Amino acid sequence: MQSFSYLLARTPQEAAALAAATPGAKFIAGGTNLLDLMKLEIETPSVLIDINGLDLDTITSTPEGGLRIGALVLNTDLAANPTVRSDYAVLSRALLAGASGQLRNMATTAGNLLQRTRCPYFYDTNMACNKRSAGSGCSAQDGVSRQLAVVGASPACIATHPSDMAVAMQLLDAEIHTVLQDGSERVIPIEDFYTDPAANPGIETVLQPGELITAVHLPAPLGGRHYYQKVRDRASYAFALVSVALVLDGKGGGRVALGGVAHKPWRSREADALLPSGAGAVMSRLLAGAQPTHENEFKILLAERTLAGLLSASAE
Ligand SMILES: Cc1cc2nc3c(=O)[nH]c(=O)nc-3n(C[C@H](O)[C@H](O)[C@H](O)COP(=O)(O)OP(=O)(O)OC[C@H]3O[C@@H](n4cnc5c(N)ncnc54)[C@H](O)[C@@H]3O)c2cc1C
Ligand code: SF4
Repeated sequence: MQSFSYLLARTPQEAAALAAATPGAKFIAGGTNLLDLMKLEIETPSVLIDINGLDLDTITSTPEGGLRIGALVLNTDLAANPTVRSDYAVLSRALLAGASGQLRNMATTAGNLLQRTRCPYFYDTNMACNKRSAGSGCSAQDGVSRQLAVVGASPACIATHPSDMAVAMQLLDAEIHTVLQDGSERVIPIEDFYTDPAANPGIETVLQPGELITAVHLPAPLGGRHYYQKVRDRASYAFALVSVALVLDGKGGGRVALGGVAHKPWRSREADALLPSGAGAVMSRLLAGAQPTHENEFKILLAERTLAGLLSASAE
């Protein structure tokens, strides 16, 4: 690991200003992803700005009847929160499908949104990877791609976003609240948060240098029945091959989002509208234009069958 300096931020505004003014600075929250990447020298921050002392670890109601989740709320606490369990059950279920109990005790809400891909070549510094080293190439295109994207990808990068939590948040139309280096604040709908890999796979979100996530807001509860089904190679402690987040409104309609298939949680309102027509119709629209590799084309049928299974179970 390369040497680095350490700073403890006292306010969100100070954290954002410090990070923007210090080339190579990174925020550290739970450290469960960042420290692994530093040990492999994939991330080499000159300064770590510790944000764990900030007052961003509470879950409160919003005046609109929704929920404000502080950026430092732990995945364990978010999954166990009584309001999340009763009114946003898809989020609780997605969180509990991720990582392990020990990791969820450290992992934070913002850190989870910003975790990096699990593409094996991203972690292997002997291999070409455009995300790690711009312009070096993409070893996954002709390599091991079972875990990787089938839709929304580009020849530059076919990595998937590994978060389970983000899939549920996309389904719930979450908004990400931030503070910028000048102390101003902005709100980013989650559907605009992750950027396409075509231009520069190394840039994954619309966050500006130094911009700090302070909270995630959820709108008022949707009601309905909530499901999160994750299909993976091992029964636990593995990232999704495909995951399906689903909310059904009891009248045949609802919303569906997929994890494990793209560089971001994958959802479209046009596909939601096809839920009354069944899983085949939804997936034809949601995965239209998919360009799988020879190793991961199974994901398309897997996504359809996973959704079909949930719809069938919901009818019992
Ligand atoms: C073995 C293993 C298995 C896992 N399995 C799963 C899984 O199945 N599903 C799943 O979803 N996840 C899984 N994870 C990932 C885990 O959920 C993430 O590592 C964790 O959520 C990251 O949160 P953190 O607080 O530790 O982030 P950190 O490692 O501290 O930070 C991650 C990134 O976020 C940035 N950051 C953190 N907070 C902020 C903020 N407030 N504003 C701006 N930037 C910020 C950091 O600078 C860094 O770039 C697994 C991890 C491991 C190690
Ligand atoms: S898919 Fe993306 S992360 Fe994986 S090797 Fe290619 S450029 Fe790197």
